[in-house]
Amino acid sequence: MIPYGRQLIDDEDIKAVSEVLKSDFITTGPKIKEFEKAICDFTEVEFATAVSNGTSALHAIMYAIGIGPGDEVIVPTMTFAASANSVVYQGGTPVFADVKKEDLLIDPKSVEKLITNNTKAILAVDYAGKACDYEELRKIADTHNLYLLSDACHSLGGKYHDRNVGLLADMTALSFHPVKQITTGEGGMVLTSDKELAQKSMFFRNHGITTDYHQREKVGAWYYEMTDLGYNYRITDFQCALGISQLTKFPEWLKARNRIAETYIEKLSDIKGIEPLATDGNIYNAYHLFVIKVASDIRDQLFKEMRDMDIGVNVHYIPVHFHPYYTKKYGSLKGLCPVAESEYEKILSLPIYPSLTEDEQKYVIDTLKKLLAK
Ligand SMILES: *Cc1c(COP(=O)(O)O)cnc(C)c1O
Repeated sequence: MIPYGRQLIDDEDIKAVSEVLKSDFITTGPKIKEFEKAICDFTEVEFATAVSNGTSALHAIMYAIGIGPGDEVIVPTMTFAASANSVVYQGGTPVFADVKKEDLLIDPKSVEKLITNNTKAILAVDYAGKACDYEELRKIADTHNLYLLSDACHSLGGKYHDRNVGLLADMTALSFHPVKQITTGEGGMVLTSDKELAQKSMFFRNHGITTDYHQREKVGAWYYEMTDLGYNYRITDFQCALGISQLTKFPEWLKARNRIAETYIEKLSDIKGIEPLATDGNIYNAYHLFVIKVASDIRDQLFKEMRDMDIGVNVHYIPVHFHPYYTKKYGSLKGLCPVAESEYEKILSLPIYPSLTEDEQKYVIDTLKKLLAK
């Protein structure tokens, strides 16, 4: 089976991990800071907090900006459930925004309509690896005094008008799940250029424990205080060693993802009935996913036939407001986001990952051609 995405791990990565396993610190040791610094250098962001996964990164962000009961956060419905769930974890309410037909990214026009007195933030999701319209979103956020947040679990390495992903919002979440750009097995990171928000994320990942240097001096080196409710969202040193090693290869992988995407765009352009998502000359796409649209009445059959041909196509995503958890909570939400709802029935994710060979990609394209010609 050719999957839609997969990790790439070499002997260097394995060596880096095993060195840490043989060392004194396998968690809360020096590799955490080293990985955080490597991501800061790569993204040019000032502060990074490594955590246990992308979902805990999003949760830490909702905590840091003070989301609580009664607060609303605008989230696009075309995303992984975790984007919205992170708001619920803090007792807040996710409000589902519709997406733009051409690239399935959050639609600023939809966002504007959803703002109320309770809105605290907009969470933009860089769906498939393409940065959202941050210029437009920033204007809206500033006008209404909202935080602008970024779920960049798809878009590490992406750029918007020459500015790196990580610098585009007040706080940004990354994921290092195996299908994402680089992996630590499970892992995530919170990025921000605001020192106070960074500090809040840091103590949230460690049970809400603060270790104030002056208090330790006064009371004793054993002293610490738990000042607010946090979680154990720590990542291990051996995971961070993997992340550091992966990051050294990432620039090449990013180029490979773009090469694969360009080949798809070129070779699929002469197949009737296939439409890739819109690209933009001012946005460097990190291509976590390569999503095409086909007619909604053939999508499910095509999905099945591609799977039968050992091509692991997938559908990203079922609109979050369709999930039973949310319909139980809010009642039927059908019709809430008409564009996402209709485009959802057309989308299919094709294989894209750095080690996908030319022959494998040709097989995917030829199979699509054959099946659509039927
Ligand atoms: C993967 C992903 C997450 C969650 O990341 P985990 O590391 O799996 O917890 C959140 N949002 C989006 C858009 C994702 O793709």
